[in-house]
Order: sequence, then C-alpha cells, then structure tokens
Amino acid sequence: MSYIVNRNDRLNVFVEDLTHDGSGVAKVDGYPLFIPGALPGEEVEIQVGKTLKKYGFARLVKITKASPDRVEPPCHVFSECGGCQMQHLSYEGQLVQKRKTVRDVIDRVGKLPHVPVHPVKGMKDPWRYRNKSQIPFAEQDGKVVSGFYRTRTHHIVDTDVCLIQSNEADDLMTALKMELHNMGVDAYDERTNLGMLRHLIVRKGRATGEIMVILVTRKKKFTQQDAVIELIKRVVPEVTSIMQNVNSEKTNVIFGDYTVPLYGKSFIVDSIGDINFEISARSFYQINPEQTEVLYGQALEYAQLTGNESVIDAYCGIGTISLFLAQKAKEVYGVEIVPEAIADAKRNAELNNIDNAFFEAGPAEVVIPNWYAEGKRFDVLVVDPPRKGCDEELLNTILEYKPKRVVYVSCNPGTLARDLRILEDGGYRTQEIQPVDMFPHSSHVECVALLEREMSN
Ligand code: SAH
Repeated sequence: MSYIVNRNDRLNVFVEDLTHDGSGVAKVDGYPLFIPGALPGEEVEIQVGKTLKKYGFARLVKITKASPDRVEPPCHVFSECGGCQMQHLSYEGQLVQKRKTVRDVIDRVGKLPHVPVHPVKGMKDPWRYRNKSQIPFAEQDGKVVSGFYRTRTHHIVDTDVCLIQSNEADDLMTALKMELHNMGVDAYDERTNLGMLRHLIVRKGRATGEIMVILVTRKKKFTQQDAVIELIKRVVPEVTSIMQNVNSEKTNVIFGDYTVPLYGKSFIVDSIGDINFEISARSFYQINPEQTEVLYGQALEYAQLTGNESVIDAYCGIGTISLFLAQKAKEVYGVEIVPEAIADAKRNAELNNIDNAFFEAGPAEVVIPNWYAEGKRFDVLVVDPPRKGCDEELLNTILEYKPKRVVYVSCNPGTLARDLRILEDGGYRTQEIQPVDMFPHSSHVECVALLEREMSN
C-alpha cells in the first residue's frame, strides 16, 4: 500500500533507470515504480499495478517519447517468452547498460569508485550463439507444442524459431513437433505423467560442427525409435551423436539417471583456443564458446604468466580454465566440488597431453587450505565461483597465504563487489575490471577482475 500512487492510476512518467532484469524504473516523488518494457530516457504513460511499501509495479500503456536506443525486438515471442530480457534495446545500448550495472554495484557495494570498469566486450554478431538448447515438448489441446517456458511458469511458449540458438536446433524442434503424432509418438503431459517425448536437447561443437541430439523420454522402450532417428538424420545430416535419456519421474528436472546411445558416438568434441574437449550428454560446458575464449583470454592476460608460476584454478568445473592456463604456467591445480566434472577434467588433460595440470574433487574452501598445509605455494589464484560468490573460508585462506595475484572470474557482479571489498580490507588492491557479454539480450554480465597484493604486505 502506497500513499503516493494507487492501483490503476494513470500517470505520465520519465524513466530514469533499468533494473538488471530489464524493467524500466521511474520515480514518483521518490517512490520507485518498475515498468517492464520501458527504457531509460523514455517518457511513458503507465497504469499502476501492485503497490508495496517501498516500491510498486506498473504496466506500460504508451510510449510518448521513445529512447533512441529502442529497437523492434526481432523475436516474435519476445514479450511472452522471457528467455531474453533486453531485445527491445539495441545491442550497443545493452552493453552500455551492462557496464553501468557493474559500475553501480562496484561503487555501492565494493566501495571502489576509483577502480576502472572497462567497456563490456561484446559479440560482433550477437545471435545464434548458444551451443546447447534444452527444449521442452508437451501436448496442448491435442497438439504437440515445443519452445521455451514463460518466465516463472511451466507454460510452454510455442515457437519454431529461437534466434539465440543454432539453426539445427530450430530445424529439429520444428520437424519433431510436426511429425511426432504422424509417427505415433505423444509428447509428455506433465499433469497425467503420460506421453513419451519430454525434452529435446541439441548440443553443437562450435569449432568442429559436431552435433549431439538427446531425446529425453518417459520410458526406455519406444517402438517408433527408428523412425525418430531417421527423421533427425534427414533434418540434420551432420548429426554425429543421438542419445536417449530416460526420465520416468513426475518432476520438472530435465534429466533422468539413465542415458544410452541410439546412434553414433557418445560425445562431441569442441575446442577453446588450442584445447580440445570431449563433451558427453550430461557434461557441463560453457554455453557461448566464442565469448568463453574472450573471457578466458582476459583471465590469462590478468594472470600474467611467464611459465614459472604455480597457479590454482578454484571452482574449475571440467578444467576449461585450468587447461587454458597450464600452457603458460609451471603447474596448475584445479579444484571442483562435482566429482564427475573432475573426472572430465583429468580426461581432457590427457586428451591434450597436458601433464602439468592436477585436479582434486572437493569444496575449494577445504581442499585449498589442505594444499597450503601440505607446503604447496602458489603465485596466482584464479576463482570462478557460482552466483553466490566465494566461500568466506576461501577468502580467509587467500588473506592468510597471500598469493601475489588473484584473478576473479564472476557471473554475478553483486557477489563480486562484496568479495572484492573483503579482499581489499585484507590488503589486496583491485586493479581493473573487464566485463564480458556471455549472454547477449539477457540481463546477465560476466566480469574478470585483477587483484594484486600491496607491496608493503
Ligand atoms: N570454471 C568453470 C566452471 C565455473 S562454474 C568453467 O569456466 O567452465 C562454478 C563451478 O563451481 C561449478 O562447476 C560448481 O560445481 C563449482 N562449485 C560450487 N561450489 C563449489 C565449492 N564450494 N568448491 C568447489 N567448487 C564448487
């Protein structure tokens, strides 16, 4: 309940800001209203919706004066789907906005207004960048639909095209949708837990062009399997792997525990820089390989390796950063909490004949103090934590053992800023921050920050 505006009020407002998830922000006597679809610099007519004590929401009725950065969203389901938040803003405008998001939080939370935040490194062609699509299938009114979930719902927005996924994923999702019933296969029905096809997953190796198709089905045995395989091969002749994953549970988790090959190899190969990776059906792998090279290139530059350094890669996943750094360092130690990812990391090291990268499974905040306790010493520490940032114990270990340089790769500017402040208070100095756009048209932004130990410490 607000005393400044009331539900259903019609107002003309000036949009000052954009939230990280793409809503415009206007203030009425200091009271913020969030307006999905509105852009900074615009004058708009709105209708007030829900109002809370400190802020409220409003619907965009009319744009009286449009932002020069406004563009027509190229995707026809943009307003329904919610997978992208910023298609109505020009790509240049998105990059400016993302830099501002980082700048604001580094100033406000990190208290580091003097630290340079460079312009965001974006893509030349910010479309069709995803190397993996996970496409739900369902029955709606007797028809097969497939596309993407509407934000915060389980309603599928039916579409034949997604401009940030591969052409092959578009072709497969459309062909399967059209042919499924003709082949005698039903899509899955969440309410009844009946039907067969739950998800189509398409993975593509950008460097190699290899393609893996994964069919997530409710049952292992489905008699029309051969017809489906033939259809996939006809639509995408380049397919190198078709896998089946079985998920019989009434759940919205995509994968079940059981995976079998139906055709071709059980993995695809891709490369980042000079390093090859084998990617199996369930392996984690960066989603935007072109920008991953930019991100890791930045981490490598900040690590300033001469060949003599011992390096830690904390939160290493399948060892992508570790193997990238190992080519330029004396040795790299990677740590990651998921044991399967560590098995992949070791295999990828072998595959590339890299013998100076070592991997251990476990929590970084436990494994790294153990390494130090065993007498190992490190010159550079690279961290790439999940959205919640670094564990406090890990930050304490850094402050205790004082590696010369810390390279912080972050997918969440908020926790990055928090952790930089802790490291600053412990004697590190943040030199600079380079944001990288890994997910064009979404509100996400990744950053690489370089920290160095103060000389006197
Ligand atoms: N550096 C990798 C992965 C980064 S994603 C890459 O670029 O591909 C963050 C990783 O941290 C995930 O793989 C997650 O499993 C792992 N993780 C989460 N909590 C962890 C912890 N406490 N210790 C070690 N790894 C952790």
